[in-house]
Amino acid sequence: MTVRPAASETGDPLLLTPGPLTTSKAVKEVMVHDWGSRDQAFIDINQAVRDGVVKVAGGERTHTCVPMQGSGTFSVEAMITSFVPRDGKVLILVNGAYGKRAGKICDYHARAYVTYETPEDTPPSVEEIGRLLDEDKEITHVFAVHCETTSGILNPIKAIADMVQAKGRRLLVDSMSAFGALPIDAKSVHYDALAASSNKCLEGIPGMGFVVCRLSALAETEGNANALTLDLFDQWKSMEANKQWRFTPPIHVIVSLDQAIKEFFAEGGVEGRGGRYANNCRVLVEGMRDLGFETLLPDDLQAPIIITFHKPADANFHFETFYNMLAERGYLIYPGKLTVADSFRIGCIGRLHESHMQGAVDAVREVLREMGVSNCAPARAAE
Ligand SMILES: *Cc1c(COP(=O)(O)O)cnc(C)c1O
Repeated sequence: MTVRPAASETGDPLLLTPGPLTTSKAVKEVMVHDWGSRDQAFIDINQAVRDGVVKVAGGERTHTCVPMQGSGTFSVEAMITSFVPRDGKVLILVNGAYGKRAGKICDYHARAYVTYETPEDTPPSVEEIGRLLDEDKEITHVFAVHCETTSGILNPIKAIADMVQAKGRRLLVDSMSAFGALPIDAKSVHYDALAASSNKCLEGIPGMGFVVCRLSALAETEGNANALTLDLFDQWKSMEANKQWRFTPPIHVIVSLDQAIKEFFAEGGVEGRGGRYANNCRVLVEGMRDLGFETLLPDDLQAPIIITFHKPADANFHFETFYNMLAERGYLIYPGKLTVADSFRIGCIGRLHESHMQGAVDAVREVLREMGVSNCAPARAAE
């Protein structure tokens, strides 16, 4: 190969994945210091991050941000086990791996639940949710995934929230891969809690998540949690009392998230960030369709986060080779996670711009030529 591989601001391969993702140079550079966890300098940064997250959510005065150590799943587990009382019952909306994971969390913690499952390319029907809630009065909470990263599908979170509220139940949202890029305004979407993390659309580094909580709902959760480390009520009360984390905070992650949030607002908030991702998504999808690839989802169900492409049926196409040859060119993509079809995924979030997406499409074209793949159409289901 004669051309230099594509690279981020720090010379690293571009991560076309749904997190960890490519971050700005400044987000990494602010970490080259030490901070005392009980020192005012860090306490101020921690408060700025919590306030920043609430501002992204549009929940000033009505909501609070309770941060949690660990990857995003730790926050989802903390949200479910802190908000659902031990005698509660959850209706889990499933159309991918993250909905299924919520069921697994309920299994571990002995929370009763039922699932309403639709195929990975199909959002739930809001009418059906209403029917299920009418039918089973024991259901106290509904768990929904905003963008199901398994496929990249956008679930109708506002309509779901309206239905759950109309039926007098409570909503928990996994907005991990959407928060910051797709609107979910706390003033118009009624939820008790929403979980997300540092390393997705806020473009920070991995290591912590957070739960945006409606204050009046959080205040009712004392005693629900059955794990000390995941107790959001305790984490909140303690942090409000002394401004400190209960246990060692992921300081460098928090400091870099503070920088990432500053960059987020400088870019124009949800509109600016979401706009850049939508443009990335458009360039990628148009370019890949020009090459003959087919997306799993129609455009109206596609969130501008990660795109699932069907694997070409061409006998010369091997995913491993395809992956490795793209990696050599500086583009790291993602295998598929679908059960319905053979596929792979390309993300369009992180510190990536139109030129990066165009570069990725050009690299795909070149790799296909070298692999001898002439037809990118997927296998047709047998009649
Ligand atoms: C990334 C993600 C999570 C959390 O995954 P971790 O690997 O624990 O960070 C949860 N839900 C969704 C929808 C996600 O995209």
